[in-house]
Amino acid sequence: MVSVISHWINGCAVEVPPENTGPVFNPATGEVIARVPRGSALEIEAAVAAARKAFPLWRDTPLIARSAIFFAYRELCWKHRDEMARLITRDHGKTYPDAFAEVTRGLETVEFACGLPVHLTGMNTPNISTNVDAHTLRQPLGVAVGITPFNFPAMVPMWIYPIALMCGNTFIWKPSSHTPGATQLQAELWKEAGLPDGVFNVVYGGREAVDAIIEHPGVDAIQFVGSTAVGRIVHEHGIKAGKRVGCYTSAKNAMIVLPDADMELAADSAIASGYGSAGERCMAQALVIAVGDSGDRLRPLMEERINKLKIGPGTEPDIDMGPIYSAEHRESIIKWIDKGVAEGAKLVVDGRSFHHTTNPGGFFLGATLFDYVTPEMTIYQEEIFGPVLGIVRCATYDEAIAMINSHKYGNGTAIFTANGGAARRFELEVDVPMIGINVPIPVPAGYLSFGGTKASAFADLQMRGEDSIRFFTKQKEVTVRWPKPGKQGPLSLVFPSNS
Ligand code: NAD
Repeated sequence: MVSVISHWINGCAVEVPPENTGPVFNPATGEVIARVPRGSALEIEAAVAAARKAFPLWRDTPLIARSAIFFAYRELCWKHRDEMARLITRDHGKTYPDAFAEVTRGLETVEFACGLPVHLTGMNTPNISTNVDAHTLRQPLGVAVGITPFNFPAMVPMWIYPIALMCGNTFIWKPSSHTPGATQLQAELWKEAGLPDGVFNVVYGGREAVDAIIEHPGVDAIQFVGSTAVGRIVHEHGIKAGKRVGCYTSAKNAMIVLPDADMELAADSAIASGYGSAGERCMAQALVIAVGDSGDRLRPLMEERINKLKIGPGTEPDIDMGPIYSAEHRESIIKWIDKGVAEGAKLVVDGRSFHHTTNPGGFFLGATLFDYVTPEMTIYQEEIFGPVLGIVRCATYDEAIAMINSHKYGNGTAIFTANGGAARRFELEVDVPMIGINVPIPVPAGYLSFGGTKASAFADLQMRGEDSIRFFTKQKEVTVRWPKPGKQGPLSLVFPSNS
């Protein structure tokens, strides 16, 4: 029996008729395992109504009572992290250890939110004028929305909703329809943790649902994580509709390898970053910029490691790389590899012919390695979001930094070197906000901010951390006079000068 997933509105599952659903696939087998609702403006209307109704109660719930719910939610997620990871592996295809790590990393931001009374302390400036003090208030905006991608069904939403909720907003999550298993579980665990009905809602859907969110006057803020094509539109239309909007989008990350680097570490890092989760990570290093002779030394080490990769269902032990999340995406990756060949890059390892013998219907693809990729090629310029790595050769460190800074994307980057001065120059000069020094996937810890630049983000602030607290609150500056009894000064029409 194929299960039918429901929306989650006002603390209840909202069922939809089968004709209003689409298929969810197990990418390791190609089988349909569930059906997911195609949400419309109708469900968005219901979710916004529930979230608006719940807002005053949640806003006015004492901080320590809100915090207690967060602690309970964290404990429940911790208890259910095996189940959550299994659901992610089933829908997405990534290996079970990778899915488990995703849940653990997502929970770092839930843990950050547990300390909300500390984060929401304001500023207080006594005596700004005679008998006058000033203080700052941070208040919730109202209804916040998180629109999230398929590739991290737990971690990316956990980067958004804990902070939106801890600031006192109510929340609507519009997840990806490709990976809904862990979504349902998160909604149920919030209920079990004691979150009041209507504070956390889930509506599935594509363009129609997202348009309805953008146009709805009852939505105050949107954080979007997904492709640049969609994020650009959500940002433009959301801002026009008067909402606070932050969109964190596609990437084409590059790591530089200098000739003095530990080549074994650089090779391990390139393989782990480029092929982990089948390359379906926005922080994957998809390009390796090899300076001087480092390309000649690195390539054989990378080939050796690629040849040992075990590809198969993410549920099986010792698998390094699972399938691609959908058949369509697998086809698009194959077209990118064809294009790389046509553009003249040297195909060193070809993953196109990989077939999994016991799971022939699965969306599997082998790891692919190109060498002599150049900046004119589209496989250098565009995000492929698959297990395709390209080595780019260059003569000098200056050229390598110039390549990173002139790329249209800027999400994460890394350098591999034994030279502290070169590493220091890298972090000062590179125009990319998330930087690894001998670290290939520099995703900052869950209590720090996260975000890109250029075509990797359409946002004034980053996600998570202090930036997200600012994003999900409005600030008020209050000026307060309490004159000493009987000491009120004379009437004056002069503009107050605080002196
Ligand atoms: P996507 O843009 O297709 O989907 C993201 C969200 O938008 C989903 O909820 C989806 O249902 C919705 N959506 C899809 N098409 C839409 C449309 N036409 N109109 C309105 N909404 C639409 O992205 P994806 O394929 O799910 O995820 C992969 C992309 O996300 C990659 O580009 C990756 O780099 C990016 N990503 C970025 C980050 C980051 O932090 N910068 C993190 C993870 C993923």
